[in-house]
Amino acid sequence: PRIIAAGATREDEAVDASIRPKRLAEYLGQQPVREQMQIYIEAARARGEALDHVLIFGPPGLGKTTLSHVIANELGVNLRVTSGPVIEKAGDLAALLTNLQPNDVLFVDEIHRLSPVVEEVLYPAMEDYQIDIMIGEGPAARSIKLDLPPFTLIGATTRAGLLTAPLRDRFGIVQRLEFYTPEELTRIVRRSAQILGIACDGEGAAEIARRSRGTPRIANRLLRRVRDYAQVRAGGDIDRAVAAAAMAMLKVDPEGFDELDRRLLATIVESFDGGPVGVESLAAALSEERGTLEDVIEPYLIQQGFLVRTARGRMATAKAYRHLGLPPRTREPG
Ligand code: ADP
Repeated sequence: PRIIAAGATREDEAVDASIRPKRLAEYLGQQPVREQMQIYIEAARARGEALDHVLIFGPPGLGKTTLSHVIANELGVNLRVTSGPVIEKAGDLAALLTNLQPNDVLFVDEIHRLSPVVEEVLYPAMEDYQIDIMIGEGPAARSIKLDLPPFTLIGATTRAGLLTAPLRDRFGIVQRLEFYTPEELTRIVRRSAQILGIACDGEGAAEIARRSRGTPRIANRLLRRVRDYAQVRAGGDIDRAVAAAAMAMLKVDPEGFDELDRRLLATIVESFDGGPVGVESLAAALSEERGTLEDVIEPYLIQQGFLVRTARGRMATAKAYRHLGLPPRTREPG
């Protein structure tokens, strides 16, 4: 797997317990989201009601799961964590919902992957805190209505467009997480270093942050790999030079790109004359799945202005040519 993959590895999950922020004040960056959520949480608490359902969307590793932990903690309620593909049958969802305490939070990661049948059960649960479940089969089958405690559903997904409209419409609060700035990631790296007992100065943290693709999960992972390097090669302390040397070894370039990013840009430039190239052709040329391309590789390249998505396909920008050490093509795009 890529060192800069945004998805969680087993090691990431193991350290999550210690470094994952538990309160809003520790949830760094995402200023507008934090401000809004603080108000909604305080208001719901004061009324003794369940917080309205929250949809959080944003690329992997930006803090969707973390935010749901923070919300439950700030509300002073329990959090139950599950994910779309795990809830296979309507009965699985019913079991989860009927076991909640009043005002608890149910977090459903990858909520766009719920089956249509389960989604149908979720609608009345979200709207009226009720579910209809079928008991028995054939002519003896009948439906019974169950009352649920008031609860908050927090759904997470990588792109809002993946949700069906009826599901999306049932969330009163919709939050979109943005890639973090290098300054925000520097603060996150320093906080994690402190918790994990890693000696890392400000410039070392900034060097790691700059290459972390706007993503806290990647920043925390790179910090651990740089720590290994520092321990074995540099007496244990992380400064700018040590961080840069470790990154060179990991083949993470100063933009935070790895081989795959560079290969994607090079393929568009060399095999498709800079584009536009359709996503399917590009995926085939790279031997990657279209979904991986769209959800994992492209968002950061696009956000950083190395790639543009046009109606006719992907195009490499002048910035991409420069990054590859090539002169920009003279022909005007389009
Ligand atoms: P997602 O659910 O979006 O894939 P996570 O919530 O699991 O991402 O976050 C990945 C890691 O990044 C967590 O271990 C957490 O420690 C860290 N993290 C995420 N958001 C923040 C934040 N706002 N401040 C500090 N650390 C964060």
